[in-house]
Amino acid sequence: MTKTPFVTKEKIEEIASVYPTPFHIYDEKGIRENVKNLKKALSWNKGYKEYFAVKATPNPFLIKILNEYGCGCDCSSKPELMLSKAVGITGDGIMFSSNDTPIDEFKYCNDLGGIINLDDITHIEAVEKACGKLPKKMSCRYNPGGVFKISNDIMDNPGDAKYGMTTEQIYEAFAIMKEKGVEEFGIHSFLCSNTVTNEYYPMLAKVLFELAADLKSKLGVHITFINLSGGIGIPYRPEQEPNDIFVIGEGVRKAYEEILVPAGMDDVAIYTELGRYMLGPYGALVTKAINEKHTHKEYIGVDACAANLMRPAIYGAYHHITVLGKENEPCNYKYDITGSLCENCDKFAIDRMLPKIDMGDYIYIHDAGAHGFSMGYNYNGKLRSAEILLKQDGSFEMIRRAETPKDYFATFDCFDFYNDLITE
Ligand SMILES: *Cc1c(COP(=O)(O)O)cnc(C)c1O
Repeated sequence: MTKTPFVTKEKIEEIASVYPTPFHIYDEKGIRENVKNLKKALSWNKGYKEYFAVKATPNPFLIKILNEYGCGCDCSSKPELMLSKAVGITGDGIMFSSNDTPIDEFKYCNDLGGIINLDDITHIEAVEKACGKLPKKMSCRYNPGGVFKISNDIMDNPGDAKYGMTTEQIYEAFAIMKEKGVEEFGIHSFLCSNTVTNEYYPMLAKVLFELAADLKSKLGVHITFINLSGGIGIPYRPEQEPNDIFVIGEGVRKAYEEILVPAGMDDVAIYTELGRYMLGPYGALVTKAINEKHTHKEYIGVDACAANLMRPAIYGAYHHITVLGKENEPCNYKYDITGSLCENCDKFAIDRMLPKIDMGDYIYIHDAGAHGFSMGYNYNGKLRSAEILLKQDGSFEMIRRAETPKDYFATFDCFDFYNDLITE
């Protein structure tokens, strides 16, 4: 089983002659088709809105494409809020789902008119202090504790997760907020990350819908939205069955009709905060084989490293690899594909069966469109790569330039050797 790149070797050669590897590349066509299907799958819900999780891929060009389909921004820090503002998304277009939040960020969000989603009951007071009074519309993040039964490697254990309020706290928080003048309430929960099953959202919806109906009947609060947050995953491995967004949408609808409609809550809007699902498959890291090493194992060294894509190094995550131009050759060589960090975990693949790799071959690392570039860092003096958009007509555009040493040294501008540093 295999995965097919969204770009050919010839196109990559053309792009690399202008923008040298490594770079992240995004597929505009795939992004647009996917967001259209997501909207269609949830169109039964009148108020449905996706708030793209900015942290997944904080690029204004890509956020603007999603915004054409009505997507807002899910932010968790001031710079993410600033980015949202810069692309013209403010007011109800912003969901501020932060945690461990510095108090001044509540004020910044409130000044933009964004919806504050409280991670903790103590933040009621913080928001009051920061904003003068509580906004009319607010949300709380819920964590039921225990174990969420659809398990996966990264997050399957809400009882161990730092996010959200307990059941007891969310009742108390809603009561306090109502008394302090909040008129519209939302509930948010993120219990499982990267789920490759159509059951996660419907199961989560059931939990949140039942909670919402009970909060309404016990406290008389007006709940206007329920935010299923992120967590719809993508099949990183070629043998995995992808999620069917239409089955997921129908599953949520069923829970809605069984629980919310009878509770007289048929005007509740469904929100999502998907990141990975929106862009993951529509981005790739393209890198070049520049060294080969035959010692206790067979190594291929590439010009990208974990600083460009951390998931394999920190989670042991699988990313499928295609050697461009060798799609039809037999995979009869076993390689470790490594970056140049002085860290042995800097391997994009371990013991991976691939076609014979020659120096100069382009290595296409799949599914890097979310939580890829954005997790990058500068360890070992590594510079962040460029980001390229492959447009629908086959042309390409640089949507972020690669870093230069000048960027790396920018924060030394307070020293008098700064000018010597940046001349190289
Ligand atoms: C990371 C995150 C998301 C997006 O998660 P994905 O797994 O990319 O869908 C959504 N909401 C919050 C609060 C997050 O922290």
